[in-house]
Amino acid sequence: MMDFGFKISPSSTINLDKVDLEKFTRLHEIEPDVYKCMACGSCSSTCPAGRFSGMSLRKVILDLQRGKEKEAVAMMKNCMLCGKCTMVCPRGINTRHLILSIYRIYAEDEK
Ligand code: SF4
Ligand code: SF4
Repeated sequence: MMDFGFKISPSSTINLDKVDLEKFTRLHEIEPDVYKCMACGSCSSTCPAGRFSGMSLRKVILDLQRGKEKEAVAMMKNCMLCGKCTMVCPRGINTRHLILSIYRIYAEDEK
């Protein structure tokens, strides 16, 4: 094949009908506020860990809803639990508590 100096990225299409949301449903039971997130990104833009590690709570929540649990848990390891995102969330979500609940449910497989 001719080398054009660039490649087409692999498809990132997700079939949401096939995503297993069992854990996200459990998360919603203990953290109903997770559905209040409107993916505004205020948490990500204020996160002190974001600049150095790419930590983004907005992306974590979206990834969990898309079944990309491994990526989300890996990103969560960069969180310092400083609570800064809780102060800026326009939906009043206790994001720090949400992060701890995500850990409790999603990281249990790694124990
Ligand atoms: S600041 Fe709140 S509403 Fe906005 S993306 Fe973060 S968690 Fe969601
Ligand atoms: S609690 Fe975690 S996600 Fe929120 S601002 Fe602090 S380091 Fe970032």
